[in-house]
Parts: sequence; structure tokens; C-alpha cells
Amino acid sequence: MNIMSSLYQHGTLAMLMGKQLQGTITVAELLTHGDTGIGTLTGLDGEVIVLDGEVYQATSDGKLNHITDKDTKMPFVSVHFNQPTRRLPFSETSTDTLSQQLKSEKLTNIFAAVKFHGDFSNMHVRVAQKQETPYPSLLEVATNQSEFQEKDISGTIVGYFAPSVFSGPTAAGWHIHFLSDDKKFGGHILDFEGQNIDGTLQIFDEFRQHFPLEDSDFRDMSLNLEGLSDDIATSEGGKQ
Ligand SMILES: [Zn+2]
Repeated sequence: MNIMSSLYQHGTLAMLMGKQLQGTITVAELLTHGDTGIGTLTGLDGEVIVLDGEVYQATSDGKLNHITDKDTKMPFVSVHFNQPTRRLPFSETSTDTLSQQLKSEKLTNIFAAVKFHGDFSNMHVRVAQKQETPYPSLLEVATNQSEFQEKDISGTIVGYFAPSVFSGPTAAGWHIHFLSDDKKFGGHILDFEGQNIDGTLQIFDEFRQHFPLEDSDFRDMSLNLEGLSDDIATSEGGKQ
């Protein structure tokens, strides 16, 4: 059977919970697997958005970097090639309404991506702070993050819906990032309200999970599975 559309993920959220924050894939290699996506850099240094094959990083001091060094490494990132399944059937949306508005798409048990441009009357994001070795767990980092809020800002949202059963490899529910049109503001979205929405939905019939086999710390990692799903929900705040 032919693969219709594939989502590629390097690393897992569970690995970040297991203190594996070292970068294990280069931007150069990542971009061979997709041109659109989200992730983070070594040490949980900020929130990454991949848009049109370019990599942008929002940092915890409120800055936005265009990552042009293709040797830059990432511990956790998801990408796909932008090949939309359909246009989004609404012109206004928010954190509270997005799932409901896409209910007829029956996303509950599949991976999907959204990519949409809009004018946002509210855009509230958080950005992880860069950690140094010995690395803490994602859960510890999540309790101390920078938050930023903008009113009336235009830009693009990119991110994914993941089924509940994949909580561990990734965050169940929605995990979406924002990049402003002027490429000066971005981050991991906590909540938003958007108007003049124009964008697309893409659904995937394949989820490719890639592992950093050559990384000995990862190979030696021991993970406490007890409460893992709750810890990920606390850290990532995935909205069902
Ligand atoms: Zn994020």
C-alpha cells in the first residue's frame, strides 16, 4: 500500500522527561524529512517552528532567530512535507474552538497537521529556557518558562494533533507553535484567538519515529513510566 502522507519525528517527549536534552539530529538532516514542523534546540533552547523549509527559533528572552547554521542540533522535532489534505473550513478560531470546528474531520485516532495564517487578537505563548548539563527533566523546565502575550498580531500557526495513545512519544492533543509575519515574535502557544484565518489541514497515514541510536546517554536512559502521561500533559498542555 502506498503511503499517502508521512509525519517524521526525531526523539520523543518521553526522552525529554528522561533528561535527554542533547541535540541528536542536525537541521540539515531534519530538512530532508520535511519543510514544515515544530521542535526545540539542544538544551531545550527555545521553541522552533519550521516554515517553508526555513527554521526559526523563539528564545526565552523574547527574541526570534532565523537558524541558518545547518549543523545546529535538535533533541526533539516533528516535520512533514506540506501537502495539504483540505482547506480549513472556518475564518475564526481559538484554542477553545479548534477541535470542535474540526470535529467532522474525525481526527481523534490519527495524526494531523494544521498550518494557517491569520490576524490574532490574542496570542499567548511560552518559551522554554535553555538548560545546561547536567540536564534536568522537561517537567522541571516546564515550571519555569517565559511567557509572552501580544494583541493584534498577524502570523502563522504550525503544529500537530496527536492521538491520546501516543502520549509519551509525543504530546496528545494539539501542540502548536506561532511565528509572526515580521518574524520577531513566536513560541509554543498556550492560548490564542484568531480572525481572517486562511490555512490548511493535512492528515497522515504514517507516523515515522526516529531514534538517536548513536547517543549513548539515550541508550543508557532509564525512564519512570509511572505518571509519564500526566507529566507530559503538565509540561506541554496539549488541548484535546
Ligand atoms: Zn511546543
